[in-house]
Amino acid sequence: MPYVKFAEIVLSIPLNKKFHYSIPLSCINQIGIGKRVKVPFRGRTIIGYCVGLTDVSGIKEIKDIIQVIDAKPIFTPQLLAISKWMADFYFCGWGEALETFLPFAVRNSFHAKTVNVVRLSKDEGFVKEALTSLKKKAPRQGKALEILLKGEEMTVSELSRVSGCNLQGIYRLRERDLVSLRKKPADDTPLFAGRHLPKTDHLMPTKEQERAIVFIKTRLREGKYRTVLLRGVTGSGKTEIYLQAISETIALGRKAIVLVPEISLTPQTIERFRSRFDKISVLHSSLTEKQRYNQWWEIKNGNADIVIGARSALFAPLDNLGLIVIDEEHENTFKQDSTPRYNARDLSLVRAQYENAVVVLGSATPSLESYHNAGLGKYDYVTLKSRIGDNPLPRVQIVDMRGEIQRGKRQSCISRYLELNMKKCLAQKGQIILFLNRRGFSSFVNCRRCGFVLMCKKCDISLTYHKKQDVVICHYCYHEASVPKECPECKNPGINFFAFGTEKIEEEIKAKFPSYRLLRMDSDTMRGNNAHEKALSAFKRGDIDILLGTQMIAKGLDFPNVTLVGVLSADTIIHLPDFRASERTFQLLSQVAGRTGRGSQEGLVIIQTFNPEHYSIIFAASHDYDGFAKKELEYRKQLYYPPYGRLARIVLRGKREEDVKERSIELAEKLKDTIKLYKNTVEILGPSPAPVTRVKDNYRWHIVVKAINIEYLQQVLTSIKDEPRISKKVQTVIDVDAYMML
Ligand SMILES: [Zn+2]
Ligand SMILES: [Zn+2]
Repeated sequence: MPYVKFAEIVLSIPLNKKFHYSIPLSCINQIGIGKRVKVPFRGRTIIGYCVGLTDVSGIKEIKDIIQVIDAKPIFTPQLLAISKWMADFYFCGWGEALETFLPFAVRNSFHAKTVNVVRLSKDEGFVKEALTSLKKKAPRQGKALEILLKGEEMTVSELSRVSGCNLQGIYRLRERDLVSLRKKPADDTPLFAGRHLPKTDHLMPTKEQERAIVFIKTRLREGKYRTVLLRGVTGSGKTEIYLQAISETIALGRKAIVLVPEISLTPQTIERFRSRFDKISVLHSSLTEKQRYNQWWEIKNGNADIVIGARSALFAPLDNLGLIVIDEEHENTFKQDSTPRYNARDLSLVRAQYENAVVVLGSATPSLESYHNAGLGKYDYVTLKSRIGDNPLPRVQIVDMRGEIQRGKRQSCISRYLELNMKKCLAQKGQIILFLNRRGFSSFVNCRRCGFVLMCKKCDISLTYHKKQDVVICHYCYHEASVPKECPECKNPGINFFAFGTEKIEEEIKAKFPSYRLLRMDSDTMRGNNAHEKALSAFKRGDIDILLGTQMIAKGLDFPNVTLVGVLSADTIIHLPDFRASERTFQLLSQVAGRTGRGSQEGLVIIQTFNPEHYSIIFAASHDYDGFAKKELEYRKQLYYPPYGRLARIVLRGKREEDVKERSIELAEKLKDTIKLYKNTVEILGPSPAPVTRVKDNYRWHIVVKAINIEYLQQVLTSIKDEPRISKKVQTVIDVDAYMML
């Protein structure tokens, strides 16, 4: 058989391009698609990934591969296909995409050392029976079995040492099917050290849950790609549905990936899965490098049925993947904000298509993209309308802060209504969560008498006040205006800028409730290791009465004793200069409201706002997701915002503002030229300074490209795909399906 001459190699550089290298005799038997290689590149030796083999190459002076690193392919054909898709879709290098599939430690160590570990084969009854006779005939083998009965698994040599049973004895136990042996990475720091969790059974599902479970199981048995959108109100028991779907997947001989937002990936979440299943791996950022390395190889060696993790766990090297669960699918943390700028939710559909797997997207407040796709019939749609145990959804009260200002003297962050209810709640020994949206971005212009907010008429985005020039600008289209002297709506001369800081509120609460324990939780106070985790457990234990915090407390935690939740200002989210601001407001208010009334007592949610008529607040208060979605979709449709159109954001940044501005204008001109061919189906907004104008000494400008479909968007972006390399002074980043507009 003639040898293949050339390998197609992709490199971790921002070029979506294959390089040809010739295969020297020394590598002929080792080379293979999906393996890593060392190759010379621009005078250095770097790691590349083999994505193809060929006999034809037009390149003269072709260089040799230096070394093949992997004995077996490190990427499955499916993962290679996904990486190619990513590179094409998100405009990154193919090798850059592949590189993100590997944890840092895996990328940089070439050979995994392994040891043999031993554990009981599954049937404990069988083992106990055999033990009785073994104790007499072969007491050391008996001792070894007794030790294994107590714990999870150990290395063969360790077992031999503590039991006194020699290797032969242990192999004999295996011959009798009493124990099983397998390889695992040496030097393992166990993730779940010494904690043998008792296994629990499936919970008895409610009628609604049962219906959802049966539906998803049917999809799983079909063994074809399908996406199911599961909308369940907070506390409706979505996790139980995931667990039973995973159970079915394993019964079908397949495997599952569960993605949750980083912040919800708590020990409690993982324990819930571990108490149901054995072969679980976890991949997330708080693991040590070594742990991540080990987890990855465990998965690669076929020792995991389930992988739980944040965003990048989507690329876990499982074979025979049957199910991908994305919990809280609306969360923007599934979108990576560095290259490659992929959205794990969207990419999970791509992986599922290559693997013939089912995707379950779960949320109490699905993204409008997913809701729209369900409406079009692209996804199945299953809903859970009631909470477990028929706990009612909390009562939500809206407090109009305009009234507070007119009647009150000094500006207070806490309305009289909220204060009154805080007193009541504390007197009944209940706990309180006060929620404040993250600070730092509150420079919208707002009338404190009528709530009017200055908006860009063209983009439907809040205008942002710039102190230095004393103007307001639209950060999408760069429309600029002076600040009106009086409110255009009610003629009040006090039109103003609005901000509360957490520290100020902390002082005010301390002054009003001196005898209660208050904890402030934001990125300033939660810096240390596990600080976040510790604070939440202290709150859960009841050591804290009032928890004041930002986003980080809004996520899926259960606090049965919380009977009051206060949202101090809904306005800071509504007026973010982002076309998703209303959706974020609705999602956040629904999430926050979901924190209360989880126990037997009824919960109350109080939302303070200068915009009590805003539909995102009204619908959140009445727990009406469908109502909100319908209304918001109407608005999106008018201006072709997603899901009716597709959008990309091009961010330019550099040390000197003039350079950045100049490049932005050039690039926008080029784009505007290109879209002439597209006859009003593609629109260029900007260039304009980004809402967050400076980050780490870099000035930022951006351009928004909006198209009526993804094909046109991709075509227009392709025309500028080489731009990022044009200027050394200004970095250019293309963000397809951008989620962060700041
Ligand atoms: Zn007004
Ligand atoms: Zn505008």
